[in-house]
Amino acid sequence: MKFDTVIIGAGPGGYVCAIRLAQLGKKVLIIEKNKLGGECLNYGCIPSKALIFASHLYDKIKKAEAFGVETSGLHFNIDKLQSFRSGLVSKLNQGIGFLLKQNKVEVLLGEAKFITPQRVSVQTAIGIQEAEATSFVLATGSSSIQIPGFEFDGESVIGSKEALELGQRPLSPVPQSLLVLGGGVIGLELGTYFSKLGTKVTVVEMMNQLLPGVDKECVAVVERDLKKRGVEILTSSKAKKLEKNGGVGSATLGSATLRLTVETQAGEKVLEGDKLLVTIGRKANTQNLGLETIGVKLTEKGFVAVNSEGQTSHPHIYAIGDMTGQPLLAHKASHDGICVAENIANQKARKSKPISWAIFTDPEIAGVGLTQAEAEAQGKKVKVGKFPFLALGRSLALSEPEGFTKIIADEKTHEILGAFIVGAHASDLISEAALAVTHHLKLEDLAETIHPHPTLPEALMEAAEAALGKAIHIPNRPSS
Ligand code: FAD
Repeated sequence: MKFDTVIIGAGPGGYVCAIRLAQLGKKVLIIEKNKLGGECLNYGCIPSKALIFASHLYDKIKKAEAFGVETSGLHFNIDKLQSFRSGLVSKLNQGIGFLLKQNKVEVLLGEAKFITPQRVSVQTAIGIQEAEATSFVLATGSSSIQIPGFEFDGESVIGSKEALELGQRPLSPVPQSLLVLGGGVIGLELGTYFSKLGTKVTVVEMMNQLLPGVDKECVAVVERDLKKRGVEILTSSKAKKLEKNGGVGSATLGSATLRLTVETQAGEKVLEGDKLLVTIGRKANTQNLGLETIGVKLTEKGFVAVNSEGQTSHPHIYAIGDMTGQPLLAHKASHDGICVAENIANQKARKSKPISWAIFTDPEIAGVGLTQAEAEAQGKKVKVGKFPFLALGRSLALSEPEGFTKIIADEKTHEILGAFIVGAHASDLISEAALAVTHHLKLEDLAETIHPHPTLPEALMEAAEAALGKAIHIPNRPSS
């Protein structure tokens, strides 16, 4: 088989790249060893957000009496939710197959490996096939990191993939208690989901704050909510030892399945739980691809090293998405895919842009561009405007007054450098700020855009006004 481009991996990086290359007239083969849509569609973004939304709705309905909604007899049917999740995933899965077909992209199901820099062999269900191409795109994504002593066993010690399926099988009910090792994005999103279903959740984080690297003020709002719902949080704490029922040391175990010894700042603490969810980070899927055979270089952290054009140490082999390193986000993978496709087709590729992000905790956190500290570290003098949702009519009407919007702008030019939101629908609200940061808009552009009332985006307009010292609904303080 001979192609212009062969893509390995059909996640949001690979399949988007394939479609754009086909649109640009290239003959493309995409090879996938598991399911179209990759981690994001099958075990990540989509199923996790379906579950998170359902638990959020359940939580909201429980509190809906204040709105006059009578909720007696309310209960949660996890079987129905799990069928919804798998139905949704398979519908979108078929959708990607349809799009690839429409664009005349050839799909081969199997595991690809380089034999030479110009040729891959693919282990398919019916034997080995080979494909040659002028260019290749590596898009094999990432997978959960496991640590010695806490390896996944598919039963009591699990990763995010198994966590999303809990409740699906009769033998794996929603756990009564869950220990989460790693208080990063995935650990907190799933921890919040389970706590809303009634699970007793304990989060153990090695660093001195949850969501390491995220604006502390935003994290504080989420941490307050987690504590209010009974989630136990241990920061600056390290897991030391795990004992399983039936395993070594099990004589000391009570009714719980697991006993986790944790070193905290106040000394050793022993936690008990039914399941341990390990979410301590992700590593690039670079194994078994023959990369060492053909000499594709990796970074110190084991990701594939690429230049600004997405080329690896072999200029005709490109790499995109999670396997090239942070940020590990679906929309970043897709954007990489489009840029690389345009590079391969000798089009003027889009330049790299600020990447917005969202964390689906309760409330949500979202951001784009530079934090105040990052801007100042670059020698910029900044103006900061902040607006609390407590002062916004729409948030109060929704009974979701927690959080704020924050805008960081250049002090002299008023160019918007960054924006951060913690609060209801932050994941939707951030796109307006992303537009502003990407297109170098000024505070005045946001402040002078008439926003419909009463809506949540008014909080961004007011934060821009606050930075200019002319917010209407809060007292104006001199900006820092
Ligand atoms: P992947 O999606 O990992 O796809 C890689 C594909 O390559 C896989 O299908 C794999 O089977 C295939 N493959 C690997 N090796 C081979 C081989 N040798 N031959 C053939 N095929 C191969 N991101 C967001 O932006 N928003 C979210 O809300 C979000 N939520 C998440 C929730 C969870 C629980 C997890 C785990 C992740 C989440 N992510 C989210 C991250 C997101 O899933 C990834 O950033 C994204 O999937 C990366 O896309 P990719 O194309 O680089 O790789």
